[in-house]
Amino acid sequence: MAFDRIFNFSAGPSVLPEEVLLSAQKDLLNYQGSGMSVMEMSHRSKVFDDIIVTAEAKLRKVMNIPDNYKVLFLQGGATLQFAMVPMNLMTVNGKADYIVSGNFSKKAAEEAAKYGKVQIAGTTKAENFSRVPRQDELLLDPEADYVHICYNNTIYGSVFDYIPETGNVPLVADLSSCIMSEPIDVSKFGVIYAGAQKNVAPAGLTIVIIREDLLERTPKEYTPLLMNYKILAENNSMYNTPPCWPIYICKLVLDWLLDMGGLEVIKKRNVEKASLIYEALDNSKLFKPAVSVKANRSLMNVTFRTGDDELDAKFVKEATARGMTNLKGHRAVGGMRASIYNAFPIEGVRTLVEFMKEFEAKNS
Ligand SMILES: *Cc1c(COP(=O)(O)O)cnc(C)c1O
Repeated sequence: MAFDRIFNFSAGPSVLPEEVLLSAQKDLLNYQGSGMSVMEMSHRSKVFDDIIVTAEAKLRKVMNIPDNYKVLFLQGGATLQFAMVPMNLMTVNGKADYIVSGNFSKKAAEEAAKYGKVQIAGTTKAENFSRVPRQDELLLDPEADYVHICYNNTIYGSVFDYIPETGNVPLVADLSSCIMSEPIDVSKFGVIYAGAQKNVAPAGLTIVIIREDLLERTPKEYTPLLMNYKILAENNSMYNTPPCWPIYICKLVLDWLLDMGGLEVIKKRNVEKASLIYEALDNSKLFKPAVSVKANRSLMNVTFRTGDDELDAKFVKEATARGMTNLKGHRAVGGMRASIYNAFPIEGVRTLVEFMKEFEAKNS
């Protein structure tokens, strides 16, 4: 690979497209004749205004976001949304349904419980989150202020293979680790949020996509200004200084996606990449996938293990020596995790699969 870059399977912050990094490098000292870097300019300048307006327009185009949704570029990560969602939306009946399908949805539920009544509408905890709950397993309250899900479970490597049907109750989804990895019908959601550092930009940017009518739910008077969706929306994410640099890189990533043909094309690539690893797992006697239901296998985070902790550690160590880093699974699951986000090259996946075969032949 060019520039001595290694195959970086990091779960986040994670790999960015080389084209994007090169483009940022080219414009680093003097952004398009402005005489300064994007990091150095006023967020109220004409040049930056053009960047944020274009980023939003491109995001709307790539994700096909309907006109009755606002797009917000915020800070604080997905974790701050665990609090902002209940602060802004758990204000009608004071209760919400949480579907707990992994570590992050559990954290979201715990945070929300500080602001109102959290009801666990479905969970696969008893199966160590090796799949996501099915629609027929959900116990949904029609009076809930919203239903929350984490669509792709970054740590466990599972993904929803359906959008839960919630009737008139708005669906709120954490899409941090799968946003823009495939087309998704935004109109099925009340709120979508995502920390950008998995698939979209460097850390520091959080994207929130919110249906306009939900901005009319009045949060408590003591809610901080910067946690009030309505104020943020009215000020076009510029109540204060937005994360200028990550927004700029986000724009470049969107250009990269649009140039390749958008989400249908990236989905095809993602399916191709993930299938290579899952196929290797299905054909292996040594490695086992951590997700028990095939339809719930994530395209972004592939989790697997040998069943022997020492052998797992050996695999990770030897892979690292060959230029494949960050393959160690999260401590909650153990084993291995290959995060293969949009920008992760297929050559890296092929190299991993070859190494898995070689490792199996030597160690079984
Ligand atoms: C990484 C991740 C988070 C945490 O994101 P931060 O931006 O670090 O707060 C939350 N949810 C999911 C699904 C994630 O992948």
